Amino acid sequence: MVERTKVDMEKIVSLCRRRGFIFPSSEIYGGLSSCWDYGPLGVELKRNIKQAWWQAVVQERDDMVGLDASILMHPQTWEASGHLKGFSDPMVECKNCHLRWRADDLKGNNCPTCGGELTQPRQFNLMFKTFMGPVEAEANVVYLRPETAQGIFVNFQNVLNTTRKRLPFGIAQIGKAFRNEITTGNFIFRSREFEQMEIEFFVKPGTDQKWFNYWLEERLNWYVKLGIKKGNLKLRQHTKEELAHYARACCDIDYSFPMGWAELEGVANRGDFDLSQHASSSGKNFDYFDDETKEHYIPYIIEPSAGVDRSALAFLCDAYDEELDKDEIRVLLHLHPTLAPIKVAILPLSRREPLVKLAKEIYADLRQCWMVSYDDAQSVGRRYRRQDEIGTPFCVTVDFQSLEDEQVTIRDRDSMNQIRVPIGELKTTLQAKLKGEELFVLPSGGRIWKE
Ligand code: ATP
Repeated sequence: MVERTKVDMEKIVSLCRRRGFIFPSSEIYGGLSSCWDYGPLGVELKRNIKQAWWQAVVQERDDMVGLDASILMHPQTWEASGHLKGFSDPMVECKNCHLRWRADDLKGNNCPTCGGELTQPRQFNLMFKTFMGPVEAEANVVYLRPETAQGIFVNFQNVLNTTRKRLPFGIAQIGKAFRNEITTGNFIFRSREFEQMEIEFFVKPGTDQKWFNYWLEERLNWYVKLGIKKGNLKLRQHTKEELAHYARACCDIDYSFPMGWAELEGVANRGDFDLSQHASSSGKNFDYFDDETKEHYIPYIIEPSAGVDRSALAFLCDAYDEELDKDEIRVLLHLHPTLAPIKVAILPLSRREPLVKLAKEIYADLRQCWMVSYDDAQSVGRRYRRQDEIGTPFCVTVDFQSLEDEQVTIRDRDSMNQIRVPIGELKTTLQAKLKGEELFVLPSGGRIWKE
């Protein structure tokens, strides 16, 4: 494939807005800073990302189980985790225009907007605070979780006791997290409400480095298998200065976003910090009894922590392409079929009967398997373009000849090649093609279909 130049963020934002992937939150009221709504196509993309992650890390593994903990947790959680004290960024405020900036993001000594004088940096806690129950008193303060991980740590014993899992094993969770970020922007890259996909993998101390390396490789490959170009990914080891005090090692998986290289996922070796903290804060026992060595110990944790929204942005940026087709620009998303919001589009060549009846029958049949769209508006060329732009891997055209020979045409998004297949073989053919199989020989009858 031809090497593509890096896409502008504006093009991604505009495509997402135009085609219903992502809208600014509460747009009719002018939007809400750094909050986003996923539209009809965006919600499918996000669901597909989460499903692909869940399949890879939970469904296909013996050593992982899932969890869905509540967003609101006992406030003591955040004391034990260190978030109440430590989850803050140094922030400065402009004395003139009162805009706030993250001190470590600033290049000069003055306000980047008006050039005004800045205050001394002060710590700003990133957790959203609210009250539980009707009384807004300090005793009723609760926080919106800034990460999903803590819900996993506090349930360690519950999961251990109910699943009879033995080390090494992990708990995976997908859910919303909230951070009152100071510096937002770059579309859905950093928002104040976002979704995380986190794994806490519990291992025997001493085997942690091995598992840390294992998860780094595993997670890196997950992105590559779903179509991200290897050259757009790199690992960035945290320096000693950057490393959180409890972490034994941390490595970011960075992606080459339009604004530059930035973190897509972090993989950390957290040692026994989290379980020890919750053990001493709650007075509960977090020891693990190792049946093989007859030892008691607190497991170490390897944490691969990914963002759903950042993944969505990376997949969109990586898939975006523009091609010259005759004298027009063809915009297309080379999304992996697993991630494409719509897998197949049914395009009848006319709105006349009995063609419509046949096309609708095919549509009804295929949508039992996948998200399928039906489009009969405008020329077939325009319809192909519409599907290319949202990343639909295959279009099925139903024409008048289909009524006679009971065959339809499948058109491939990337190559624009077309093959004609019997309607009876359509589902099996699409099934194989969506899995990425180079299907030239159909299962029944051994007929050869060349693209
Ligand atoms: P950054 O330094 O970019 O703010 P972080 O190091 O604070 O990120 P982690 O705490 O390691 O992020 O969170 C794990 C993952 O959650 C990140 O790799 C990212 O994918 C996602 N994430 C974190 N903060 C946000 C946010 N504000 N908006 C969207 N995704 C986020």
